[in-house]
Amino acid sequence: MASFLQSIVTQRCPRCRQGRLFLSPNPFHLKEMQTMPKECPVCKQDFVIEPGFYFGATYISYALNVAWLIPTFLFIRFVLGEPFRTFVITMFILLPVLVPILFRLSRAIWIHLFVRYDPGLAAQAREARQESSDPSDS
Ligand SMILES: [Zn+2]
Repeated sequence: MASFLQSIVTQRCPRCRQGRLFLSPNPFHLKEMQTMPKECPVCKQDFVIEPGFYFGATYISYALNVAWLIPTFLFIRFVLGEPFRTFVITMFILLPVLVPILFRLSRAIWIHLFVRYDPGLAAQAREARQESSDPSDS
């Protein structure tokens, strides 16, 4: 069973913590970076709770970006003693790598704030999956 944090990091459904939030598991597949199924393939939890639901995820995204930009700046400027332009160059290198990851992470955090985990439902979904994947037992 995935924990709250594991569920966010692995981008799973907040209700059953099993179904994937995004169609493509690869965040660098840019065409499908933000494509989400309408509902959880495991428990049918709606992933678009209301129109514009993920607008609020931009606040999470902002916080995540500040959370890594400031320490990175302080490290480059004061630990390495490099000039500001080194920081800017580092940003140009890191941003294309981090944007898809932070985008998905912020959406995952956002939906986890609004949808509660249902352990009973998760166990049911797990059993149903085991039955369907192992028909020789019955
Ligand atoms: Zn689910």
